[in-house]
Amino acid sequence: MRGFVSHLESTFDGSTLPARTVQTVHGGKPLLVRYDLEAVRRTASRAALRDRAAEMWRYHELLPLDDVAQRVTLGETMTPLLPCPRLGRELGVNQLYIKDESRLPTGSFKARGMAMAVSMAKQLGVTEVAAPTAGNAGGALAAYAARAGMGCTVLMPEDTPRVNQLEAVWHGARAFLVDGLIDECGALVRAGAEQFGWFDMSTLREPYRIEGKKTMGFELAEQFDWQLPAAIFYPTGGGTGLIAMWKAFAELGAIGWLDSPRLPQMFSCQSSGCPTLALAFEQGVDHGVAVPAPHTLASGLRVPKALGDFLILAAVRASGGHALAADEERLRDWMRRATELEGIALCPEAAACLGCVDHARRAGMFDPEQPVVVFNTGAMQKYVEVLDVELPRLDKRAVDWDAVRGVRATRSN
Ligand SMILES: *Cc1c(COP(=O)(O)O)cnc(C)c1O
Repeated sequence: MRGFVSHLESTFDGSTLPARTVQTVHGGKPLLVRYDLEAVRRTASRAALRDRAAEMWRYHELLPLDDVAQRVTLGETMTPLLPCPRLGRELGVNQLYIKDESRLPTGSFKARGMAMAVSMAKQLGVTEVAAPTAGNAGGALAAYAARAGMGCTVLMPEDTPRVNQLEAVWHGARAFLVDGLIDECGALVRAGAEQFGWFDMSTLREPYRIEGKKTMGFELAEQFDWQLPAAIFYPTGGGTGLIAMWKAFAELGAIGWLDSPRLPQMFSCQSSGCPTLALAFEQGVDHGVAVPAPHTLASGLRVPKALGDFLILAAVRASGGHALAADEERLRDWMRRATELEGIALCPEAAACLGCVDHARRAGMFDPEQPVVVFNTGAMQKYVEVLDVELPRLDKRAVDWDAVRGVRATRSN
Protein backbone atom coordinates (compact mmCIF):
# COMPACT_ATOMS: atom_id res chain seq x y z
CA MET A 1 0.00 0.00 0.00
CA ARG A 2 1.32 3.44 -0.92
CA GLY A 3 0.00 6.93 -0.23
CA PHE A 4 0.47 10.05 -2.33
CA VAL A 5 3.75 11.39 -0.91
CA SER A 6 6.17 12.13 -3.75
CA HIS A 7 9.21 13.46 -1.90
CA LEU A 8 10.53 15.70 0.88
CA GLU A 9 11.58 19.26 0.09
CA SER A 10 14.32 21.19 1.87
CA THR A 11 13.40 24.68 3.08
CA PHE A 12 17.16 25.41 3.07
CA ASP A 13 17.64 25.30 -0.69
CA GLY A 14 14.57 23.65 -2.21
CA SER A 15 16.38 20.42 -2.97
CA THR A 16 14.56 17.09 -3.06
CA LEU A 17 15.08 14.25 -0.60
CA PRO A 18 13.56 10.78 -0.72
CA ALA A 19 10.54 10.02 1.46
CA ARG A 20 9.93 6.60 3.10
CA THR A 21 13.33 6.69 4.79
CA VAL A 22 14.35 8.35 8.07
CA GLN A 23 15.05 12.05 7.50
CA THR A 24 15.60 14.92 9.92
CA VAL A 25 16.68 18.39 8.69
CA HIS A 26 18.67 19.58 5.66
CA GLY A 27 21.25 22.37 5.89
CA GLY A 28 19.93 22.79 9.45
CA LYS A 29 16.46 23.72 8.14
CA PRO A 30 13.13 21.83 8.23
CA LEU A 31 11.88 19.47 5.52
CA LEU A 32 8.39 19.70 4.04
CA VAL A 33 6.41 16.71 2.77
CA ARG A 34 5.28 17.02 -0.86
CA TYR A 35 2.45 15.06 -2.50
CA ASP A 36 1.45 14.14 -6.02
CA LEU A 37 -1.45 16.61 -5.81
CA GLU A 38 -2.61 15.82 -9.35
CA ALA A 39 -3.13 12.19 -8.32
CA VAL A 40 -4.86 13.27 -5.08
CA ARG A 41 -7.16 15.55 -7.09
CA ARG A 42 -8.17 12.60 -9.29
CA THR A 43 -8.60 10.12 -6.42
CA ALA A 44 -9.98 11.99 -3.40
CA SER A 45 -13.34 13.73 -3.08
CA ARG A 46 -15.15 15.87 -0.53
CA ALA A 47 -18.18 13.58 -0.87
CA ALA A 48 -16.15 10.55 0.28
CA LEU A 49 -15.55 12.27 3.63
CA ARG A 50 -19.18 11.67 4.57
CA ASP A 51 -18.52 7.98 5.13
CA ARG A 52 -15.42 8.45 7.25
CA ALA A 53 -15.03 8.67 11.02
CA ALA A 54 -14.91 12.19 12.54
CA GLU A 55 -11.18 12.00 13.27
CA MET A 56 -8.06 13.60 11.83
CA TRP A 57 -7.27 10.53 9.69
CA ARG A 58 -10.30 11.19 7.46
CA TYR A 59 -8.06 13.36 5.23
CA HIS A 60 -5.61 10.49 4.66
CA GLU A 61 -4.99 11.21 0.96
CA LEU A 62 -3.19 14.39 2.10
CA LEU A 63 -1.38 12.69 4.99
CA PRO A 64 1.98 10.92 4.80
CA LEU A 65 1.14 7.48 6.24
CA ASP A 66 1.14 4.89 3.42
CA ASP A 67 -1.37 2.65 5.18
CA VAL A 68 -3.75 4.53 7.48
CA ALA A 69 -4.73 1.22 9.12
CA GLN A 70 -1.22 1.19 10.63
CA ARG A 71 -1.76 4.48 12.49
CA VAL A 72 -0.89 4.88 16.15
CA THR A 73 -4.05 6.39 17.58
CA LEU A 74 -5.68 7.39 20.86
CA GLY A 75 -8.81 8.67 19.09
CA GLU A 76 -7.87 12.04 17.55
CA THR A 77 -11.39 13.36 17.24
CA MET A 78 -12.40 16.35 15.09
CA THR A 79 -12.60 19.28 17.47
CA PRO A 80 -15.65 21.53 17.83
CA LEU A 81 -15.83 24.99 16.30
CA LEU A 82 -17.73 26.92 18.97
CA PRO A 83 -19.47 30.25 18.24
CA CYS A 84 -18.70 32.73 21.05
CA PRO A 85 -21.26 35.55 20.84
CA ARG A 86 -20.75 36.97 24.35
CA LEU A 87 -16.98 37.05 24.11
CA GLY A 88 -17.29 38.35 20.54
CA ARG A 89 -19.48 41.25 21.70
CA GLU A 90 -16.90 42.15 24.34
CA LEU A 91 -14.16 42.16 21.69
CA GLY A 92 -16.23 43.95 19.05
CA VAL A 93 -16.14 40.95 16.71
CA ASN A 94 -19.41 39.91 15.13
CA GLN A 95 -18.66 36.25 14.37
CA LEU A 96 -16.07 34.94 16.81
CA TYR A 97 -15.36 31.21 16.96
CA ILE A 98 -13.09 29.20 19.19
CA LYS A 99 -11.78 25.93 17.79
CA ASP A 100 -11.45 23.86 20.94
CA GLU A 101 -8.39 21.65 20.65
CA SER A 102 -8.46 20.81 24.35
CA ARG A 103 -10.66 17.80 23.44
CA LEU A 104 -7.74 15.91 21.92
CA PRO A 105 -5.87 13.08 23.71
CA THR A 106 -3.53 14.45 26.44
CA GLY A 107 -5.57 17.69 26.46
CA SER A 108 -3.75 19.65 23.77
CA PHE A 109 -3.34 19.88 20.03
CA LYS A 110 0.18 18.49 20.39
CA ALA A 111 -1.66 15.17 19.96
CA ARG A 112 -2.24 15.84 16.25
CA GLY A 113 1.46 16.27 15.54
CA MET A 114 2.67 13.47 17.78
CA ALA A 115 0.05 10.94 16.55
CA MET A 116 1.34 11.51 13.03
CA ALA A 117 5.05 11.68 13.87
CA VAL A 118 4.95 8.53 16.02
CA SER A 119 2.89 6.71 13.35
CA MET A 120 5.50 7.64 10.73
CA ALA A 121 8.39 6.72 13.04
CA LYS A 122 6.78 3.30 13.52
CA GLN A 123 6.34 2.87 9.75
CA LEU A 124 10.06 3.67 9.36
CA GLY A 125 11.12 1.14 12.01
CA VAL A 126 12.05 3.56 14.81
CA THR A 127 11.92 2.06 18.33
CA GLU A 128 13.24 4.91 20.53
CA VAL A 129 12.08 8.52 20.46
CA ALA A 130 13.11 11.62 22.41
CA ALA A 131 12.27 15.31 22.65
CA PRO A 132 12.88 18.42 24.69
CA THR A 133 9.71 20.05 26.02
CA ALA A 134 8.65 23.02 28.13
CA GLY A 135 4.97 22.10 28.08
CA ASN A 136 2.49 19.81 26.36
CA ALA A 137 4.76 18.21 23.75
CA GLY A 138 6.48 15.87 26.21
CA GLY A 139 3.24 14.41 27.58
CA ALA A 140 1.84 13.89 24.09
CA LEU A 141 5.02 12.22 22.86
CA ALA A 142 5.18 10.00 25.94
CA ALA A 143 1.55 8.93 25.45
CA TYR A 144 1.91 8.06 21.76
CA ALA A 145 5.25 6.33 22.33
CA ALA A 146 3.55 4.21 25.00
CA ARG A 147 0.71 3.46 22.59
CA ALA A 148 3.25 2.36 19.95
CA GLY A 149 5.34 0.35 22.41
CA MET A 150 8.39 2.56 21.87
CA GLY A 151 10.95 3.80 24.36
CA CYS A 152 10.73 7.53 25.10
CA THR A 153 13.02 10.10 26.70
CA VAL A 154 11.80 13.61 27.58
CA LEU A 155 14.06 16.42 28.84
CA MET A 156 12.51 19.58 30.28
CA PRO A 157 13.48 22.84 31.98
CA GLU A 158 12.85 22.94 35.73
CA ASP A 159 10.02 25.47 35.39
CA THR A 160 7.94 23.24 33.09
CA PRO A 161 4.35 23.17 34.42
CA ARG A 162 3.90 20.42 36.99
CA VAL A 163 1.15 18.57 35.14
CA ASN A 164 3.37 18.38 32.03
CA GLN A 165 6.14 16.85 34.14
CA LEU A 166 3.80 14.33 35.69
CA GLU A 167 2.03 13.19 32.51
CA ALA A 168 5.37 12.35 30.88
CA VAL A 169 6.33 10.18 33.85
CA TRP A 170 2.93 8.50 34.11
CA HIS A 171 3.03 7.61 30.41
CA GLY A 172 6.27 5.76 31.09
CA ALA A 173 8.83 8.12 29.59
CA ARG A 174 12.32 8.51 31.03
CA ALA A 175 11.66 12.12 32.05
CA PHE A 176 14.25 14.50 33.51
CA LEU A 177 14.39 18.09 34.69
CA VAL A 178 17.39 19.99 33.31
CA ASP A 179 18.93 23.15 34.81
CA GLY A 180 18.71 25.01 31.53
CA LEU A 181 16.39 26.39 28.87
CA ILE A 182 14.50 24.43 26.20
CA ASP A 183 17.28 24.91 23.60
CA GLU A 184 19.80 23.39 26.03
CA CYS A 185 17.44 20.43 26.53
CA GLY A 186 17.29 20.16 22.72
CA ALA A 187 21.09 20.04 22.48
CA LEU A 188 21.14 17.17 25.02
CA VAL A 189 18.49 15.29 23.01
CA ARG A 190 20.65 15.63 19.88
CA ALA A 191 23.66 14.32 21.84
CA GLY A 192 21.60 11.35 23.02
CA ALA A 193 20.28 10.78 19.51
CA GLU A 194 23.85 10.55 18.21
CA GLN A 195 25.04 8.17 20.91
CA PHE A 196 22.03 5.94 21.41
CA GLY A 197 20.11 6.16 18.13
CA TRP A 198 17.07 7.94 19.61
CA PHE A 199 14.89 9.49 16.96
CA ASP A 200 14.70 13.25 17.61
CA MET A 201 11.06 14.43 17.72
CA SER A 202 11.90 18.10 18.41
CA THR A 203 9.69 20.69 16.72
CA LEU A 204 10.45 20.80 12.97
CA ARG A 205 13.49 18.50 13.28
CA GLU A 206 11.43 15.76 11.66
CA PRO A 207 8.92 16.40 8.84
CA TYR A 208 5.73 14.77 10.13
CA ARG A 209 4.46 16.76 13.13
CA ILE A 210 3.55 19.51 10.62
CA GLU A 211 1.57 16.97 8.59
CA GLY A 212 -0.47 16.02 11.66
CA LYS A 213 -1.18 19.64 12.52
CA LYS A 214 -2.30 20.31 8.94
CA THR A 215 -5.53 18.56 9.89
CA MET A 216 -6.52 21.70 11.87
CA GLY A 217 -6.66 23.51 8.54
CA PHE A 218 -8.56 20.69 6.81
CA GLU A 219 -11.14 20.55 9.61
CA LEU A 220 -11.59 24.30 9.61
CA ALA A 221 -12.22 24.30 5.85
CA GLU A 222 -14.72 21.46 6.16
CA GLN A 223 -16.47 23.04 9.18
CA PHE A 224 -16.86 26.32 7.27
CA ASP A 225 -18.26 24.39 4.31
CA TRP A 226 -15.09 24.91 2.21
CA GLN A 227 -15.07 28.72 2.61
CA LEU A 228 -12.29 29.67 4.99
CA PRO A 229 -12.75 32.26 7.78
CA ALA A 230 -11.46 35.80 7.23
CA ALA A 231 -8.89 35.71 10.04
CA ILE A 232 -7.18 33.10 12.21
CA PHE A 233 -5.50 33.94 15.52
CA TYR A 234 -2.96 31.27 16.37
CA PRO A 235 -0.81 31.07 19.54
CA THR A 236 2.69 30.65 18.19
CA GLY A 237 5.52 28.83 19.91
CA GLY A 238 7.55 26.79 17.43
CA GLY A 239 4.94 27.73 14.84
CA THR A 240 4.22 24.21 13.60
CA GLY A 241 0.47 24.77 13.56
CA LEU A 242 0.58 28.05 11.67
CA ILE A 243 3.01 26.75 9.05
CA ALA A 244 0.90 23.61 8.81
CA MET A 245 -2.45 25.36 8.30
CA TRP A 246 -0.99 27.58 5.61
CA LYS A 247 0.34 24.45 3.87
CA ALA A 248 -3.05 22.74 4.29
CA PHE A 249 -4.87 25.65 2.61
CA ALA A 250 -2.41 25.59 -0.33
CA GLU A 251 -2.94 21.84 -0.77
CA LEU A 252 -6.73 22.14 -0.57
CA GLY A 253 -6.58 24.92 -3.17
CA ALA A 254 -4.40 22.79 -5.44
CA ILE A 255 -6.85 19.84 -5.39
CA GLY A 256 -9.81 22.16 -6.02
CA TRP A 257 -11.62 21.70 -2.70
CA LEU A 258 -11.92 25.39 -1.73
CA ASP A 259 -15.01 27.20 -2.99
CA SER A 260 -13.44 30.63 -2.61
CA PRO A 261 -9.85 31.56 -3.49
CA ARG A 262 -9.68 34.00 -0.56
CA LEU A 263 -7.37 32.71 2.20
CA PRO A 264 -7.53 33.83 5.85
CA GLN A 265 -5.34 36.54 7.30
CA MET A 266 -3.00 34.62 9.61
CA PHE A 267 -2.27 36.33 12.95
CA SER A 268 0.70 34.90 14.83
CA CYS A 269 0.08 35.57 18.54
CA GLN A 270 2.76 35.70 21.23
CA SER A 271 3.08 37.25 24.67
CA SER A 272 4.97 40.47 25.43
CA GLY A 273 7.18 38.24 27.63
CA CYS A 274 8.56 36.52 24.52
CA PRO A 275 7.73 38.69 21.46
CA THR A 276 10.41 37.33 19.09
CA LEU A 277 8.21 37.16 15.98
CA ALA A 278 6.19 40.31 16.70
CA LEU A 279 9.50 42.23 16.82
CA ALA A 280 10.70 40.58 13.61
CA PHE A 281 7.45 41.49 11.88
CA GLU A 282 7.71 45.09 13.03
CA GLN A 283 11.33 45.36 11.93
CA GLY A 284 10.68 43.71 8.57
CA VAL A 285 13.25 40.94 9.11
CA ASP A 286 12.95 37.23 8.23
CA HIS A 287 14.09 35.66 11.50
CA GLY A 288 12.92 35.94 15.11
CA VAL A 289 14.52 38.70 17.19
CA ALA A 290 16.24 37.37 20.33
CA VAL A 291 14.90 38.75 23.63
CA PRO A 292 16.71 38.57 26.99
CA ALA A 293 15.16 36.27 29.63
CA PRO A 294 11.94 35.26 27.84
CA HIS A 295 9.14 34.56 30.33
CA THR A 296 5.40 33.93 30.10
CA LEU A 297 2.63 32.06 31.88
CA ALA A 298 1.79 30.63 28.47
CA SER A 299 4.46 27.93 28.54
CA GLY A 300 3.71 26.86 24.95
CA LEU A 301 4.72 30.33 23.75
CA ARG A 302 8.07 30.49 25.54
CA VAL A 303 10.21 29.54 22.54
CA PRO A 304 13.29 31.81 22.43
CA LYS A 305 14.36 30.70 18.93
CA ALA A 306 11.98 28.88 16.57
CA LEU A 307 13.69 26.77 13.91
CA GLY A 308 10.89 27.62 11.47
CA ASP A 309 10.70 31.36 12.27
CA PHE A 310 11.26 32.31 8.61
CA LEU A 311 8.42 30.00 7.52
CA ILE A 312 6.03 31.51 10.09
CA LEU A 313 6.86 35.08 9.08
CA ALA A 314 6.56 34.24 5.37
CA ALA A 315 3.08 32.75 5.86
CA VAL A 316 1.90 35.66 8.03
CA ARG A 317 3.12 38.21 5.46
CA ALA A 318 1.77 36.32 2.44
CA SER A 319 -1.66 36.15 4.14
CA GLY A 320 -1.89 39.88 4.88
CA GLY A 321 -1.89 39.09 8.60
CA HIS A 322 0.33 40.32 11.43
CA ALA A 323 2.62 38.94 14.12
CA LEU A 324 1.49 40.43 17.43
CA ALA A 325 2.27 40.08 21.13
CA ALA A 326 -0.40 40.36 23.84
CA ASP A 327 0.28 42.05 27.17
CA GLU A 328 1.67 39.35 29.49
CA GLU A 329 0.13 41.10 32.52
CA ARG A 330 -3.37 40.58 31.10
CA LEU A 331 -3.18 36.89 30.08
CA ARG A 332 -4.79 35.66 33.27
CA ASP A 333 -7.68 38.15 32.87
CA TRP A 334 -8.35 37.11 29.28
CA MET A 335 -8.28 33.47 30.30
CA ARG A 336 -10.75 34.03 33.11
CA ARG A 337 -12.99 36.22 30.99
CA ALA A 338 -13.37 33.69 28.18
CA THR A 339 -13.76 30.82 30.60
CA GLU A 340 -16.55 32.50 32.59
CA LEU A 341 -18.32 34.10 29.61
CA GLU A 342 -18.40 31.07 27.31
CA GLY A 343 -17.71 28.02 29.50
CA ILE A 344 -14.71 27.04 27.42
CA ALA A 345 -11.66 25.90 29.40
CA LEU A 346 -9.20 28.30 27.84
CA CYS A 347 -5.43 27.86 28.11
CA PRO A 348 -3.14 30.89 28.63
CA GLU A 349 -1.79 30.51 25.08
CA ALA A 350 -5.30 31.09 23.69
CA ALA A 351 -5.69 33.98 26.12
CA ALA A 352 -2.74 35.62 24.33
CA CYS A 353 -4.75 35.29 21.10
CA LEU A 354 -7.68 37.16 22.67
CA GLY A 355 -5.35 40.00 23.66
CA CYS A 356 -4.16 40.11 20.04
CA VAL A 357 -7.75 40.06 18.68
CA ASP A 358 -8.54 43.04 20.91
CA HIS A 359 -5.48 44.95 19.70
CA ALA A 360 -5.95 44.03 16.03
CA ARG A 361 -9.63 45.00 16.07
CA ARG A 362 -8.88 48.41 17.61
CA ALA A 363 -6.14 48.94 15.03
CA GLY A 364 -8.47 47.97 12.17
CA MET A 365 -6.29 45.08 11.02
CA PHE A 366 -9.23 42.85 10.04
CA ASP A 367 -12.93 43.11 9.18
CA PRO A 368 -14.91 42.61 12.43
CA GLU A 369 -18.05 41.63 10.49
CA GLN A 370 -16.39 38.51 9.00
CA PRO A 371 -15.77 35.15 10.74
CA VAL A 372 -12.72 35.12 13.02
CA VAL A 373 -11.26 31.95 14.56
CA VAL A 374 -9.16 31.68 17.72
CA PHE A 375 -7.43 28.38 18.51
CA ASN A 376 -7.75 27.07 22.05
CA THR A 377 -4.72 24.82 21.80
CA GLY A 378 -4.87 23.21 25.24
CA ALA A 379 -6.98 22.51 28.29
CA MET A 380 -7.10 25.08 31.09
CA GLN A 381 -7.01 22.22 33.62
CA LYS A 382 -3.37 21.43 32.85
CA TYR A 383 -2.20 24.85 34.14
CA VAL A 384 -2.67 24.42 37.88
CA GLU A 385 0.00 27.01 38.72
CA VAL A 386 -1.88 29.64 36.69
CA LEU A 387 -5.34 28.66 37.95
CA ASP A 388 -4.52 28.70 41.62
CA VAL A 389 -7.09 30.75 43.58
CA GLU A 390 -8.14 30.64 47.20
CA LEU A 391 -11.80 29.65 47.65
CA PRO A 392 -13.75 31.47 50.37
CA ARG A 393 -14.66 29.26 53.37
CA LEU A 394 -18.20 28.51 54.48
CA ASP A 395 -18.93 27.74 58.13
CA LYS A 396 -21.52 24.96 58.00
CA ARG A 397 -22.86 25.87 61.47
CA ALA A 398 -23.35 29.57 60.76
CA VAL A 399 -23.79 29.99 57.03
CA ASP A 400 -23.44 33.56 55.82
CA TRP A 401 -25.99 33.39 53.01
CA ASP A 402 -25.39 36.97 51.92
CA ALA A 403 -21.79 36.06 51.25
CA VAL A 404 -22.80 32.89 49.37
CA ARG A 405 -25.14 34.84 47.11
CA GLY A 406 -22.71 37.72 46.57
CA VAL A 407 -19.35 36.06 46.06
CA ARG A 408 -18.02 34.79 42.80
CA ALA A 409 -14.67 33.30 43.69
CA THR A 410 -12.94 33.65 40.33
CA ARG A 411 -14.56 36.77 38.84
CA SER A 412 -12.29 39.56 37.78
CA ASN A 413 -15.02 42.21 37.65
C1 LIG B 1 2.97 23.96 21.91
C2 LIG B 1 1.84 24.83 22.19
C3 LIG B 1 1.60 25.99 21.45
C4 LIG B 1 2.51 26.45 20.35
O1 LIG B 1 2.37 25.61 19.23
P1 LIG B 1 3.30 25.68 17.97
O2 LIG B 1 2.54 25.01 16.88
O3 LIG B 1 4.56 24.99 18.31
O4 LIG B 1 3.56 27.11 17.65
C5 LIG B 1 0.46 26.73 21.74
N1 LIG B 1 -0.40 26.36 22.72
C6 LIG B 1 -0.20 25.26 23.46
C7 LIG B 1 -1.19 24.92 24.53
C8 LIG B 1 0.92 24.44 23.22
O5 LIG B 1 1.10 23.33 23.96
